[in-house]
Amino acid sequence: MTAQTVFYIIIGILVINFIVDKYLDYLNAKHFDDAIPPLLNDVYDEDEYSKSQAYKKENFKFSSITGAFSFVLTLAFFFLDGFAYVDQLARDISENQIIITLIFFGIIMLGSDILTTPLSYYQTFVIEEKYGFNKTTKKLFFIDKIKGWLLMIVIGGGILALIVWFYQQTGKNFWIYTWIFMAVFSVFMTLFYSSLIVPLFNKQSPLEKGELKTSLENFAQKVGFNLDKIFVIDGSKRSTKANAYFTGFGKKKRIVLYDTLINDLETDEIVAVLAHEVGHYKKKHIIFNLIASLLLTGLTLFILSIFISNPLLSNALGVDIPSFHVGLIAFGLLYSPISELTGFVMNHFSRKFEYQADDYAKNTYKSEPLVSSLKKLSKNSLSNLTPHPAYVWVHYSHPTLLERVRNLRKN
Ligand SMILES: [Zn+2]
Repeated sequence: MTAQTVFYIIIGILVINFIVDKYLDYLNAKHFDDAIPPLLNDVYDEDEYSKSQAYKKENFKFSSITGAFSFVLTLAFFFLDGFAYVDQLARDISENQIIITLIFFGIIMLGSDILTTPLSYYQTFVIEEKYGFNKTTKKLFFIDKIKGWLLMIVIGGGILALIVWFYQQTGKNFWIYTWIFMAVFSVFMTLFYSSLIVPLFNKQSPLEKGELKTSLENFAQKVGFNLDKIFVIDGSKRSTKANAYFTGFGKKKRIVLYDTLINDLETDEIVAVLAHEVGHYKKKHIIFNLIASLLLTGLTLFILSIFISNPLLSNALGVDIPSFHVGLIAFGLLYSPISELTGFVMNHFSRKFEYQADDYAKNTYKSEPLVSSLKKLSKNSLSNLTPHPAYVWVHYSHPTLLERVRNLRKN
């Protein structure tokens, strides 16, 4: 196989990926105006419904334009040998392979961030603002951006440097060391994400004593769930959209409720949301996801180790001196159909788990408060009640609202 063939395979993957993605978006958009299923006819009143229609259409238009824009830029970058140019820039600065790798990825990520920042700015301050979701100030938006970069440099850069070092020291076997490191790192992150990363962006405070706390504790006690950490996070400083999640395990496990969720929902609805989250824990979904993602990482790293030393990867991107960093980019692209596939499988499991967690809430608490909380959350985020099944199949990590309500109401 020649470098040129590999180059065109990569271009083919990019093109097919773009077409499939845009076709799914189009299919989904064609069903924006479908009749609302009778089970969900109390979600929106007429005004809110037309607002949700406008919101969906505006987002669709925006993502079509920006998607096409970034697709054209990506192709131009490939055909104009952009990677070779950036590789040369990095090599002019240093001769150390680790530093070259860091500069190479640094330039590529900085470049793409500079291009996408105006888009996310528009999304936040024009679209989200117009529909009343946005609470972020311009100052906070840029502070978030800078914190994100610093985290990326420290954590992302550190991990990347370590992987290159493993590769330099152990050659083909680097994948085993990288894998062990990733395993330790992801367990560490699951345990300490809430206490190390979240505080950089949000304030978390223990839920105050009162009716809500008592109700949540009573439920937890009833199902034998050790709940000593219920936190409220100030999500309202960025957006009106509400959420709740569960993180950590063992002694480190905690439930985090957005302050917006507490504002929007009644006590029994929040207990139902907690019951759902406890369901994820009791059904061992958190452990399953952690192990599945570790196995997938191991598989990917192993396949990477077979191909990474092949100069064809670098040559395909127009770079003469084969290197780990350029090989990594080419590999990532060639591997993307497989990672898409594993993504579908993981989404499939995720949707199954959502039903199980809903069932758990239904069996240990009540189904109606969960139904009404899901409806309120859908209404308050103006979500699409009539998505196309193919779109759901590919993109949704949760079943649709209709499917969840049906499941909760069935005997
Ligand atoms: Zn869930």
